[in-house]
Amino acid sequence: MVMQSGENAVAALEIHQFPCLDDNYGYLIRDRETGATAAIDTPDAAAIRSALDRKGWRLDFIWNTHHHGDHAGGNLALKAATGCRIIGPRADVARIPGIDDAVGDGDTVMLGSRKARVFDTPGHTRGHIVYVFDEDRAIFTGDTLFAMGCGRLFEGTPDQMWHSLQKLLALPDEMRVYCAHEYTQKNAHFALTVEPGNAALAARVGEVDRMRANGLPTVPSTIGRERATNPFLRPDSAALQSALGLSGAPLTAVFAEIRQRRNVY
Ligand code: ZN
Ligand code: FE
Repeated sequence: MVMQSGENAVAALEIHQFPCLDDNYGYLIRDRETGATAAIDTPDAAAIRSALDRKGWRLDFIWNTHHHGDHAGGNLALKAATGCRIIGPRADVARIPGIDDAVGDGDTVMLGSRKARVFDTPGHTRGHIVYVFDEDRAIFTGDTLFAMGCGRLFEGTPDQMWHSLQKLLALPDEMRVYCAHEYTQKNAHFALTVEPGNAALAARVGEVDRMRANGLPTVPSTIGRERATNPFLRPDSAALQSALGLSGAPLTAVFAEIRQRRNVY
């Protein structure tokens, strides 16, 4: 049997990943022991329902990362169809359709026997949260951290986003990063413009180009790969600082300059 990317038949936490809309990923996650099932965000209710049907899974929960339409737009339709319970960011209860339980930094959310910690990661939106499965080595980062990129700062400052990303940098290298968009190829080519001498980055760009040419997903990544190649996690790199003309500048200022350049790339 050929496994699709993101699937693991023996894992305690099953993760089913599928494309939604133009460049989003939908995720259904399931505790193998109890069968408890959650959708991470709801980019497209119809696509999520057909994924549930294909897997033969029943939806118990929606876990939202933030309020944007390509993340919470399917909440009400899925809740009406399945009676699922909706968990989302405490700092944004007014903007999460159908929310039942509000969570934030330091909270723990259970999916059957599997345990996730919640981190507040403001920056992309002021209420953004991520879900960290320490034991299962998986993190769902929404629009905070992308493969070789990070979310745009719609509602936060560079300082807030850099603080949010540092929480993720503290996680172990082997942690798998399930982000909400397939933005990797453009991120990769941008990254080369600000850190052209990074050999790990250059190798990864070639790999990403090959994967995309073959229609393969580049997600999940890992914290280790991001630590080595994602410019938004590397404002402390002397080579990167020098390329930006910001040698010795505060890391927040370096981060802000990278974000600004990416906005217009
Ligand atoms: Zn968003
Ligand atoms: Fe998004």
